[in-house]
Amino acid sequence: AFDVLVVGGGPAGAAAAIYAARKGIRTGVVAERFGGQVMDTMAIENFISVKYTEGPKLVASLEEHVKEYEVDVMNLQRVSALVPGENLHEVRLENGAALKAKTVIVATGARWREMNVPGEKEFRGKGVAYCPHCDGPLFKGKRVAVVGGGNSGVEAAIDLAGVVAHVTLLEFADTLRADAVLQKKLYSLPNVTVIKSAQTTEVTGTDKVNGLVYKDRVSGEMQRIELEGIFVQIGLLPNTDFLKGTVELSRFGEIVVDAKGQTSVPGVFAAGDCTTVPYKQIIIAMGEGAKASLSAFDHLIRSSAP
Ligand code: FAD
Repeated sequence: AFDVLVVGGGPAGAAAAIYAARKGIRTGVVAERFGGQVMDTMAIENFISVKYTEGPKLVASLEEHVKEYEVDVMNLQRVSALVPGENLHEVRLENGAALKAKTVIVATGARWREMNVPGEKEFRGKGVAYCPHCDGPLFKGKRVAVVGGGNSGVEAAIDLAGVVAHVTLLEFADTLRADAVLQKKLYSLPNVTVIKSAQTTEVTGTDKVNGLVYKDRVSGEMQRIELEGIFVQIGLLPNTDFLKGTVELSRFGEIVVDAKGQTSVPGVFAAGDCTTVPYKQIIIAMGEGAKASLSAFDHLIRSSAP
């Protein structure tokens, strides 16, 4: 059995694995795709101490660092269930195999909900963005749209308004769902336009985004906005379906963790974008992964099992 079995091979999982292996305990990582979301990222400019890097390059360094240690990496394996036990937990894989571990660290990350309209995939990273903290400064002085009028959309619009030339916020419904205090702030900004009852139907561009088409859901007419960037803020979906009924999840499907990364099940820890910890960022996921791993080690030295 593993002392620590990490589920997920993104920044949180890689950090957890390195911290565990450095304690000289039996460590494994099982990941559907090593690298996680970082693999899909173009430019990274906020990984502190590294001025600029690119996703696949950072993933290669993560892999190299993990491989410095005795970590059993099982890549391209999807976990289908976690069965908690008294001393040993069982992690079941989609291929039918089962792994046993004294402690489990879940670091399965999340994915942005997509609009699923023509042009969105094609222009991803070429004007279509999902993270204002990551990509906002790339649009300095340019025109952008934010799709989604919930808290994250309105927060993104307020944030971006301080960086870009103009923000158009598009909401599908006829009202914004964000908190009143955020809406008040939004409407006070001179360079923000809010369009409600707007269904985004297409992202247009040549080599980069040059516009967005939406349907006015009241008149039925199609409208076009010229812009350079589109931030999609219609939800972040944690990869936690396989945990339903096993560990406590928030109403958004995030794993509920305490300050040590402990979940509702003793010996099961979680870290990164799949948890209730706010602000989904690489540097935060790594810190949380390290923390969950130290907590798992603490759990091991306190439990009776040798
Ligand atoms: P993830 O990176 O999502 O990794 C999850 C891991 O779990 C993967 O290995 C995945 O395959 C695996 N997994 C999931 N489900 C299962 C399962 N059932 N069984 C087995 N394995 C599973 N952050 C920044 O700080 N700066 C940026 O510039 C930046 N740009 C971004 C750009 C894009 C396009 C995207 C999508 C995100 C960006 N982010 C950025 C956010 C950042 O990538 C995430 O916050 C970070 O990757 C979270 O790390 P994580 O380890 O928690 O999860």
